[in-house]
Amino acid sequence: MSATWRATDVVFRYPDADRAAVDGVSLTLPSGGCTALLGPNGAGKSTLLHLLLGTLVPQSGSIHFRDRPITAWSRNELARIVGVLPQHEDAPFPMTVRDCVAMGRYPHLGPWQRERTRDRDAILDAMGRAHVLALAGRGMSELSGGERQRVRLARALAQHPDAFALDEPTAALDVRHEMAIFELLRNLARQGATVLLVTHNLNLAARYADHLVLMDQGRIAAAGAPAAVLTRAIVQRVYGWPVEIVPHRGPGPDTGAPQVVPLAGEACAQLDEDSPGA
Ligand code: ADP
Repeated sequence: MSATWRATDVVFRYPDADRAAVDGVSLTLPSGGCTALLGPNGAGKSTLLHLLLGTLVPQSGSIHFRDRPITAWSRNELARIVGVLPQHEDAPFPMTVRDCVAMGRYPHLGPWQRERTRDRDAILDAMGRAHVLALAGRGMSELSGGERQRVRLARALAQHPDAFALDEPTAALDVRHEMAIFELLRNLARQGATVLLVTHNLNLAARYADHLVLMDQGRIAAAGAPAAVLTRAIVQRVYGWPVEIVPHRGPGPDTGAPQVVPLAGEACAQLDEDSPGA
């Protein structure tokens, strides 16, 4: 399978930072499939996403998208192929939910071209998939954080991209909406899209992603199938917290997927006694 993104020995340090935020990362994402980028706060996940999208430029190493240097792609070309959900975003001007989702069609429209039937269909379909149809006429500034997140995801879906780069797409979502988004992302991946998402939900990542990449202090601590990455030793080392790993009881197609259970209170103290100096 051909690679969508390929990063080779990528190093990026923010100006005046005392260490590199991304420190020698090499990574290949095959086309099709869902990859979850995991790691503690400050591990470098968002920075790596920006590097893969070409919105930050590494001081050394290279990034290729579909075998072309990411810098050789124009913003417009990329916007037609990659749907992006940034972590933070300021609304440029007051707009309704439908206006925001319609922005996903801009890369497909010529200058001053009006929406065509296929654009209107894409907008409606995306709003339905992200469960925001009922919010269509509301102002973006009137929405809760979770509602706004779903609208921004609808905008990326309306774009009809081949690849998605999503920074914490389910942050602030309740369990039903979070599950619906993970199901949607898996379905997109099964239909051939390349999905790359940053998430703190290790357990849903283990159940829905084909491939996990765990970052720690700017480096890749582990990468591979969920069972190879979410082991007790690796998770405890990277997150600095005692955990148990249990197989998902099911039912469902993901029965047996590794699930991380962080230990609390006395169990924590017991573990410290068992492994002095740990
Ligand atoms: P993550 O997404 O895993 O939480 P980030 O990529 O946001 O991590 O951050 C990686 C490191 O880079 C952190 O130490 C963070 O403080 C630092 N960092 C992130 N953004 C900036 C910035 N704009 N300027 C300086 N340092 C930054």
